[in-house]
Amino acid sequence: MQNSETDLVTVYIGLGSNLADPAEQIKSARTAITHVAGVKELAFSGLYHSSPMGPQDQPDYVNAVMAVETGLPPMDLLRCLQHIENDHGRVRKAERWGARTLDLDMLIYDDQLIELPDLIVPHPGLAERAFVLYPLFEIAPQLVVPGKGNIADLLALCPLDELKRLD
Ligand code: ATP
Ligand code: CA
Ligand code: CA
Ligand code: CA
Repeated sequence: MQNSETDLVTVYIGLGSNLADPAEQIKSARTAITHVAGVKELAFSGLYHSSPMGPQDQPDYVNAVMAVETGLPPMDLLRCLQHIENDHGRVRKAERWGARTLDLDMLIYDDQLIELPDLIVPHPGLAERAFVLYPLFEIAPQLVVPGKGNIADLLALCPLDELKRLD
């Protein structure tokens, strides 16, 4: 049975933006995610400022991490996140890691290891990215990342790079 209380899982979502008032994009995405039927917010990190990965000729990013509780299956939730990206004016370009109004990555889905054509969880970049690990640690310091280990151990191995927490 779906959406019975026992089927609820915790999911961590990474949010990023570097176009069109990034902090506002992140706040608006938070509201949109919370308004998805069957999704409830559990926690939201502070906002962080990070340097872009890949092409350097683009603005800095604002990042955050959110924990939600949901009964939605992984692919359904991914489709919802992609709809929200599109609603925020996300334009898909050929260039990898180019500028975007909104990027929503599914970082962790319960204790699951998922390898589907369109969905890999935990997110493959998670352990190497300060802008994911630091906000994740802020809201879930005891977290064990499935297949990767304790968040504190991952964090200790990850350079801070240019990451700054915004007040
Ligand atoms: P990265 O995934 O390295 O952070 P990106 O976020 O810029 O790069 P996108 O262009 O947003 O990459 O997404 C490319 C594809 O990644 C999407 O079409 C989606 O199907 C796939 N994908 C695989 N795993 C995930 C995941 N855990 N969360 C979100 N998308 C994922
Ligand atoms: Ca909801
Ligand atoms: Ca991403
Ligand atoms: Ca993405």
